[in-house]
Amino acid sequence: MIIDDQHYDLIIVGTGAGGGTLAQKLAPTGKKILILERGDFMPLDVQNPATTEIFKRERYHAPEQWYDQDGEPFSPQMNYAIGGNTKIYGAVLQRWRERDFEAVQHQKGVSPEWPVKYGEFEPYYSEAEQLYKVHGAVAGDPTEPAHSQDYPYDAIAPDEQITEITEAIAQQDLHPSPLPLGLTRQDDDPTNDSEVSGINPAMAQDNVTVKTKATVTALHTNASGLEIKAVEAEVDGQAYLFFADIIVLACGAVNSAALLLRSPNDQHPNGLANSSGLVGRNLMKSLLTAIVQLRTKANSGDFAKTVCVNDFYWGDGDFKFPMGHIQNTGGLLTDVIFAEAPPTLSLAAKFMPGFGIKQLATRSIGWWAQTEDLPDTHNRVRISGKKLYIDYDSNNTEAHDRLVYRWMDVLKVVEKNVDGFQPVKVHPRSEIPIQVMANQCGTCRFGIDPATSVLDVNCRSHDIHNLYVVDGSFFPSNASVSPALTIMANALRVGEHLVEVFA
Ligand SMILES: Cc1cc2nc3c(=O)[nH]c(=O)nc-3n(C[C@H](O)[C@H](O)[C@H](O)COP(=O)(O)OP(=O)(O)OC[C@H]3O[C@@H](n4cnc5c(N)ncnc54)[C@H](O)[C@@H]3O)c2cc1C
Repeated sequence: MIIDDQHYDLIIVGTGAGGGTLAQKLAPTGKKILILERGDFMPLDVQNPATTEIFKRERYHAPEQWYDQDGEPFSPQMNYAIGGNTKIYGAVLQRWRERDFEAVQHQKGVSPEWPVKYGEFEPYYSEAEQLYKVHGAVAGDPTEPAHSQDYPYDAIAPDEQITEITEAIAQQDLHPSPLPLGLTRQDDDPTNDSEVSGINPAMAQDNVTVKTKATVTALHTNASGLEIKAVEAEVDGQAYLFFADIIVLACGAVNSAALLLRSPNDQHPNGLANSSGLVGRNLMKSLLTAIVQLRTKANSGDFAKTVCVNDFYWGDGDFKFPMGHIQNTGGLLTDVIFAEAPPTLSLAAKFMPGFGIKQLATRSIGWWAQTEDLPDTHNRVRISGKKLYIDYDSNNTEAHDRLVYRWMDVLKVVEKNVDGFQPVKVHPRSEIPIQVMANQCGTCRFGIDPATSVLDVNCRSHDIHNLYVVDGSFFPSNASVSPALTIMANALRVGEHLVEVFA
């Protein structure tokens, strides 16, 4: 074991939406910061797929196995690299709706209230939108919350096929609106992620050290159990101990929980920060279904996601419970999650026999239907021996099915009114498999009461005074829009708290 001879003010573990954003916020303090990241920098050609290569099996999967609740191994779609999952994400950076922070009755249960409300998050949403150069417009979405600042850049214009479809959607008394996207506008690296806007500016400061290929394997407390004393990591195959006053985990909701559960000691026999017994529990990951329209005319296959429809977010005429969010997938040669649902294109192939995967992908228009899943203590990250288990049963599924069927009805009307669709009345669709953990959250929920939450409102452990968690773990509930902007905004919020702690 190598004992690092430095003492840092702060160690951040992980460089994704939470860790990368926090690093950028804290670097100007001049404090001595060490960032430990298990992956490496990702080459540009690997980050920017726009070919059938993305359908290659397990292209963006971590080189490890997790196990489902039946003990079946799978390789999770996780990107271990500087930037984490933001290196492969869709860059849709949407605010949650105001009611997402409140207790909301769903058909199958209650989505619990957050201890911090939209009003307190709002300035950090604005800060995150500026930082990640979000291109958007507040235009017509009936669920869009109030913004104190405009988006820094105009919304991206839709592909022409999407424009004609969107017009036909609007004719059904619905409100398609622009999808906010974090973009750099650089040809070679168009997606704005937490390497570009988080780690790169942080690394430009002398007080920040980044170590890649550094997997944190355990946290050690002092004798009282009230403080983390040392961070154990494997760097390039060699075991190290690092020391700092404050430790921030940002490994993603599964890996942060796993790390805490894998670090038990006499004071914390069930894992660190786990006096509530909730570390790893309440795992949520969204209900997601890909729905495909089949066209006769080709598209490029690599156009941007640009449109969303939230008219069913809180329900529909005959269903008074939240249903969720719709967005277009963009060209199917760029959507990494769609590529995980190959059965969808196999179904399409039945109606377009003889077509290769590229022909199918470029004659398809994809849509995502996304519904909030509810926290359930049985859905969790569990460690048994050396194995990491994901116990997860979907819930709130009727609301999701209703969204999917309602959306297919909308698409059928579009296809009556717009030329250029295959003369079949079906929409191939498929739900995402367990391997897709894109929207993982909830495994270290924040709250006021230490008996019912893992973290306090500043995302500091109730049990361990110098331990924070700033990835998607802190969510007490999910929403039907995706999590990245909320994780970024929260990292900025916690960052502001840490600036005060350091002052
Ligand atoms: C294909 C895909 C598309 C997506 N599209 C969108 C989208 O359009 N909009 C949206 O809002 N969200 C999207 N998401 C989700 C979004 O990317 C995540 O919500 C977000 O990145 C989570 O941030 P995080 O900080 O919690 O974790 P991550 O971004 O996953 O970062 C975790 C980091 O910790 C590192 N790490 C893990 N364990 C260790 C360890 N033990 N030691 C050291 N380092 C470690 C990882 O390598 C990684 O860098 C998408 C995700 C995927 C996979």
